[in-house]
Amino acid sequence: MAAATMMQGSSRGGGGAGRRGGGPEDDKLVFETTEGVEAITTFDAMGIKDDLLRGIYQYGFEKPSAIQQRAVMPIIKGRDVIAQAQSGTGKTSMIALTVCQMLDTSNREVQALILSPTRELATQTEKVILAIGDFINIQAHACVGGKSVGEDIRKLENGVHVVSGTPGRVCDMIKRRTLRTRAIKMLVLDESDEMLSRGFKDQIYDVYRYLPPDLQVVLISATLPHEILEMTTKFMTDPVKILVKRDELTLEGIKQFFVAVEREEWKFDTLCDLYDTLTITQAVIFCNTKRKVDWLTEKMRGYNFTVSSMHGDMPQKERDAIMAEFRSGTTRVLITTDVWARGLDVQQVSLVINYDLPNNRELYIHRIGRSGRFGRKGVAINFVKSDDIKILRDIEQYYSTQIDEMPMNVADLI
Ligand code: ADP
Ligand code: MG
Repeated sequence: MAAATMMQGSSRGGGGAGRRGGGPEDDKLVFETTEGVEAITTFDAMGIKDDLLRGIYQYGFEKPSAIQQRAVMPIIKGRDVIAQAQSGTGKTSMIALTVCQMLDTSNREVQALILSPTRELATQTEKVILAIGDFINIQAHACVGGKSVGEDIRKLENGVHVVSGTPGRVCDMIKRRTLRTRAIKMLVLDESDEMLSRGFKDQIYDVYRYLPPDLQVVLISATLPHEILEMTTKFMTDPVKILVKRDELTLEGIKQFFVAVEREEWKFDTLCDLYDTLTITQAVIFCNTKRKVDWLTEKMRGYNFTVSSMHGDMPQKERDAIMAEFRSGTTRVLITTDVWARGLDVQQVSLVINYDLPNNRELYIHRIGRSGRFGRKGVAINFVKSDDIKILRDIEQYYSTQIDEMPMNVADLI
């Protein structure tokens, strides 16, 4: 652990043309980029359509974030791009923005396809596109499982410029020839390491082979393990790469702690003790299985704690309702699975609890990244049983970060 701590703040820059620029928090962010990538520090200087620029400012963005400064230009110039940046630094928003810039709104055919691993994330991205693209009259559709197929067909046949979807439903719509692919110029895989991992790879390929040959491909994620990067040569052409070294990947704004619980049974009491802290703003509690989410939810309610919960076995209507309540702040504590680990953006979340440690290192980054959105403060608390300590130490070392024992005054950090 000492070695890991010592490495913090050193080894910045590295091989590529890592550079610092303006932007909210980017004096701390360092990238390894393909040669020639420049940081454009204002939206005005990006050559963005006037009405889109208006939408961006109206949405509340004043200045591009570090990744936006570097990746927007190559994307709108039509290059294949692999863009990595820390969680909550504006990657998904950048997809929305660049897609809007690329589209010809006088042509009501699908010109861009964005794929995401969960229905909630695909829908969130659709909403950002609709908001930013308000003044250019963008027609977007979230094409996701669990929703009415009839409604999908109606929307698609009516004509949309961009589809943000999950692979299964998108593939279904392509095979029915309801989603016409001939005008698609751009494929974006958000959370691309997840999209190219075992669970999704075949489905992605299934979609890919229906797309036109001159396709622009854009990959986005906070985590891009080596084996994923290697795979990209098969479907990308001379991509512009903007990458982050793994010891730069955790955000300074998210403080990480652990509580040693020794035994599984003690986790519950620890959580109850933390309940007042959970409700200071909003909190997300991760368990590794749906069953455990159900169990913990029931048990918390049995002790009269107010909690909501969500996982992939729930009907989509219920998932939507729970998301809406949590987004509006009506509910404050959400117990969930890794369906919530990636991409979902609720700015009020400042605390993440790993009731169970995640099953891999990437998930750790994504889970804790549900807090600390766009430079906000965040706290992550890991419950560790005796035999979990070494897993936590591995994570700490892998990312050269620091995970201390939770202090008494943790509430003051939120
Ligand atoms: P990521 O995909 O990298 O996790 P998101 O695109 O979801 O990040 O953005 C995280 C939050 O930051 C969102 O609430 C988004 O609205 C906000 N955001 C993104 N870009 C900007 C910007 N340039 N200025 C202000 N806020 C931004
Ligand atoms: Mg994202």
